[in-house]
Amino acid sequence: MRVLLLGGTAEASAIARGLAGDARFAVTLSYAGRTRAPMVQPVATRSGGFGGVAGLVDYLRHEGVDALVDATHPFAARMKANAANAAAQAGVPRLAVLRPPWVAGPGDDWTLVPGMAQAAAALGLVPRCVLLTVGQQDLAAFGPPHRYVVRSVDPPARPPAGAIVLTGRGPFDPASELALLRHHRVEVLVTKASGGADGKLWAARMLGLPVVMVARPPPPDGPIVPDADAALRWLHGQAACRGV
Ligand code: NAP
Repeated sequence: MRVLLLGGTAEASAIARGLAGDARFAVTLSYAGRTRAPMVQPVATRSGGFGGVAGLVDYLRHEGVDALVDATHPFAARMKANAANAAAQAGVPRLAVLRPPWVAGPGDDWTLVPGMAQAAAALGLVPRCVLLTVGQQDLAAFGPPHRYVVRSVDPPARPPAGAIVLTGRGPFDPASELALLRHHRVEVLVTKASGGADGKLWAARMLGLPVVMVARPPPPDGPIVPDADAALRWLHGQAACRGV
């Protein structure tokens, strides 16, 4: 059966690994095309937008897709909505993979904010050193009087003035996160409530640093599973239903 896997996440890569070599599945993993060097995958890949809901409906029909797995990032709200609408229109079963959000524990000093402008405002007016890990597209709200250490997969086109730019693809281990916070004398972190590997949050807790956390957009309608294993079980069930 033909599977379209919407990716750009560790979960999508894990699902691709789980399906590669399984003769029941012909998988295409789709990237938005934002990162310069996406991870090499053991399944076919495509890159670039579909052209909204209508374009994705056309794609699903033209390619004879039997199942759509939306394993995009929790903040990829537009793609998630498009996937839900297009799958419904094309009559294709769809599953969303949404990793559990982080939960604050003892010793955490988190401020939850609804968006980037509020995150910038939450930093206050006293200059501080900020570790900013919100992705390269969402930096416009951040500026003086703070000093920024920006980390993203590719270098951002317009980092805040004077920012130190670090590139790297997670997950990052807790010890190296601790070293990074100490090395740059970071005083506060700003992150999206992405979930997943939480090395920087552990390190912030160890150092007693506050975290400004940008809340997730609402989840999509329809069935949702928390991880790649559950998505693989769903796909195995879809294959069984089709007698594949
Ligand atoms: P978005 O705002 O929800 O999507 C914007 C548009 O990008 C979509 O309407 C679609 O274009 C295209 N698109 C998004 N994901 C796609 C995919 N997997 N395959 C093909 N086209 C895709 O998405 P975003 O927040 O910019 O994220 C872009 C990609 O980066 C996603 O694949 C996501 O998984 C990954 N990512 C995002 C974040 C984040 O913080 N947002 C973090 C890590 C990874 P059309 O309407 O033309 O189809």
